[in-house]
Amino acid sequence: MAGIVRAFPLTPLQEGMLYHGLRSPGSSLYHGQLRADLEGPLDVEAFRAAWAGAIRRHEALRTFFAWERRERPLQVVRDEVELPLRVLDWRGVETAEAERRWAALVEDDSNRPLDLTQAPLMRVYLVRFTDERHRLLWGVHHAVADGWSAELVVDEILEELEAARGGTKPAIQPAPSYAEFVGWLESRDREAARAWWTARLAGLPGPTPLPTPARSGEDASRVSDERVLDEAETRTLKDVAGGLRVTLATLTAAAWAIVLARHTRTRDVVFGVTNSERPAEIRGVDRAVGLYLNTLPARVRLDDAEAMAAWLERLQLELSEARQHGSPGLSDLKRWADVQGADLFTSLIAFENYPDSLGGAASSGALRMTSVAVDVPTELPLALLVYPGRTLTLELVRDPVRVTSAEARALLAEVADVMRAFEEARQVGDLTRATTDPVPEGWTRGTELPSPPADVVDRILEHVRDRADTPALRGPQGSVGWGEFGRWTAGLAQRLAEATPPGAVVGILADRSPAAVAAMVATLRACRTYVPLDAHAPAGRLAVLLEGVDAVWVRRGAEDRLPSSHPLVLSLADLPDSQAVESGAEMPTPAAGIDAPRPEAPAYVVYTSGSTGTPKGVVVTRANLAWSTAARFAHYDSPPEVFLLLSPMHVDSSVAGIYWTLAAGGTLVLPPYRAEQDAASLGRLVDEAGVTHTLLVPSLHGALLDSVAPDRLASLRSVIVAGEACPEEVVRRHGTVLPGVTLHNEYGPSEATVWATVDDLTAEPAGPVTIGRPVPGARVAVVDESLRPVPVGVTGELVIAGPGVATGYRGRQDLTDERFVAVEGLGRAYRTGDRARWRADGRLEFLGRADDQFKIRGHRVEAGEIEEALRRHPAVDEAVVGLIHGGGQPALAAWLTMAGARVAPEALKTFLAGTLPAHMVPAHYAILDSMPRTPAGKLDRRAVQARGPGPTAPRATSGSASRTRPESATERTLAAVWSDVLGLEEVG
Ligand code: AMP
Ligand code: MG
Repeated sequence: MAGIVRAFPLTPLQEGMLYHGLRSPGSSLYHGQLRADLEGPLDVEAFRAAWAGAIRRHEALRTFFAWERRERPLQVVRDEVELPLRVLDWRGVETAEAERRWAALVEDDSNRPLDLTQAPLMRVYLVRFTDERHRLLWGVHHAVADGWSAELVVDEILEELEAARGGTKPAIQPAPSYAEFVGWLESRDREAARAWWTARLAGLPGPTPLPTPARSGEDASRVSDERVLDEAETRTLKDVAGGLRVTLATLTAAAWAIVLARHTRTRDVVFGVTNSERPAEIRGVDRAVGLYLNTLPARVRLDDAEAMAAWLERLQLELSEARQHGSPGLSDLKRWADVQGADLFTSLIAFENYPDSLGGAASSGALRMTSVAVDVPTELPLALLVYPGRTLTLELVRDPVRVTSAEARALLAEVADVMRAFEEARQVGDLTRATTDPVPEGWTRGTELPSPPADVVDRILEHVRDRADTPALRGPQGSVGWGEFGRWTAGLAQRLAEATPPGAVVGILADRSPAAVAAMVATLRACRTYVPLDAHAPAGRLAVLLEGVDAVWVRRGAEDRLPSSHPLVLSLADLPDSQAVESGAEMPTPAAGIDAPRPEAPAYVVYTSGSTGTPKGVVVTRANLAWSTAARFAHYDSPPEVFLLLSPMHVDSSVAGIYWTLAAGGTLVLPPYRAEQDAASLGRLVDEAGVTHTLLVPSLHGALLDSVAPDRLASLRSVIVAGEACPEEVVRRHGTVLPGVTLHNEYGPSEATVWATVDDLTAEPAGPVTIGRPVPGARVAVVDESLRPVPVGVTGELVIAGPGVATGYRGRQDLTDERFVAVEGLGRAYRTGDRARWRADGRLEFLGRADDQFKIRGHRVEAGEIEEALRRHPAVDEAVVGLIHGGGQPALAAWLTMAGARVAPEALKTFLAGTLPAHMVPAHYAILDSMPRTPAGKLDRRAVQARGPGPTAPRATSGSASRTRPESATERTLAAVWSDVLGLEEVG
């Protein structure tokens, strides 16, 4: 045939790719990408010539595949192909815009699969940012190039460019044809391989399940998370391997075997091991471009009683023996293992060992290549890629449906932990057993608390006399001394007692301010129950929250926010006026209309988002509140002197700061509404007020650490992060910026009265942030679906028992019965819906949600409530709400089908803003033609969330993951994906 150099069969690995690729048409499962920054002057014509040279040298870059009407597919090498190079000149484009375009380009390339029947199976982009700053994007099908090849080609290109500058041609040696490799494979003794592998795989119990909970569904896309071990950690691991006389690759495989054994509770596991296979018999194979890889099963048996050193030695031997026994394809292996239907394994590990000259930054005279990223595609749901070097990088490529990002991060940490632990382990069981051990009783309970704890009002009033002239509250309008605070709250309490019957429920409509705190304490002094309201919620929502409320404290000036019909409005001044103070001066005890406080009486009702469409009110008793506060005194060494309150008043985390500080006789600093949005001015406030303690969401702490000069924060002694998962980065930053300041992580839902577990992060080395141990008096457990405790290391639902557990949801017995349940060994407990597991050191790790509840800047949000609100719009038929991560901050998105005429997202947003608080209004909207459903006809929420507008839109993420990149692939690209690929419209 004219123009054809040769045609030859595929390797088993290539055949597998062809098979999987044809099974999911349109997916870019095997689309590899290499991205590189090129710094220095670059001649575009020389660049073009260099690529043309690479294509001439390497047959693989001229190869396509043919399988129609053929018994066996063939790969066909053309003698000439056109270089698919596009040069994009973005010089003069503003940096942010250029970066946005770049992200879109990368995403577009990885979402546009290459056509296997056309050579070359690649495309090249050269983007000019400035005269001296370029970027290369090379998209190539994995069937014709592995990671080694990618770096090889880029090295050659640099060499050519350098030579061209000097006006010469480099002497790059020719490389062998891939046909030689195919011939070599076919020359191997298949019969011997069959015999060896059949024996090796005999009696295999089947594929080892993933080390994550079984989930239905799968996704064709792959995303990745990585963990870079620093030089010291890497050295430690190399020493561990050296001490045990095994390679780092064996140590990693051993760690993966242990992790699988732990999570699946089996002692006979199997996973894939991908090796580079460049046989020495083929001359110059190191210089060749092609798919020189080989994935073989590693079947690992673990006997808990075996000596660790012996097991590792055996594993190393078995892994190397396996490589000597042919390079069978997976279909052969499956047959020999007698595994029907299913895949032979569900996870693989790949040790990416490039020759020293390759990888990382390279330079060629004036042109330097910095940061190279190579994608490694795979069709398995989970792949652990190991990149050795001065720093060891562990990367998990995963199916986002079957392995969540929290699970991936935990697995990465666990692999590193296990690798380290080999040093100490004597027997295999020292490492495998950890996760089957029952949780020691001592871990599940916090320290004992003397009971019953004193009512918070009694504790607060202790300070009225002895601290009379020091400030209790400090707001933007001025301070309130302790003496004055006592009289003010007494006056307000008397007014309330006169206006309402005992047991009344009283709303408080006031932003964070001395008045709001006074209203809370006064309501408790009057033995009434308060409901803190979001003063900025739309009228429609306020009306719902005000149902069954007997009276409302309203801060002067905020009256117009109240829906008009309310019966009893009690007005509040910003600061105590003389009348209020005087009338409270001689409040008798007991006072008229005020009963003695009863511990079981409700203290407050705090509303959170409700999945069934209306917010639900958590009823917290005086005993709950007394315990929550007493536990703080028991746990923390130093009570707050000056506490900066950053939580909104209607969120339960404000309870922590208010009662802890007042019960300690300290000063509560109350910055105005939304002050937390300006980190710089918060820094000034900390400085001016001499703030010693604060509690805030981790993202705000991160902002504070980034944008405030440390000397402004010099008065701080203790910082508590709470409300949502704290990123490792924040802990690290805290350690560098505020080394003398303690950092605690508090975990807990409103239903358990603010906190349930706590961890001291101050002295924590790098690693996943844990939520610690139960707080004094609390009891917790991690349970399975039938509410039985799971062993150490196994993921389950966190349940909480003890004196903090609330009465239930106001007026919602059904919801109360669902979530407040009896758990054996714990008693009445609250099912949090949070996923967690015990670490071997007795601390808890938080692993995200089991349902569709999210945290948006510390606010608890149920997807169901927003979906219900959307469905109330006449044009909306079905709605799904989810969280997406773009540009670092999570944001809400909505997927809709419309009943009739389409309405614009802007109109939907306005509609929602009438009934939902601002943080619950999604920023992104996608209109779908139909909602994906499970085979059983149920809405498939995850499939919905991977969709763009229309039924054929591409997937949300690319089918690959990259090696070096500033953040996780998902985060880096999602913002671009959402606007460019899915076509979602961003509003507001
Ligand atoms: P809320 O009732 O508003 O306090 O929200 C409680 C929920 O916030 C919990 O169920 C968790 O999902 C999440 N949460 C609270 N504290 C933490 C924490 N320290 N780390 C991770 N998640 C947290
Ligand atoms: Mg909370």
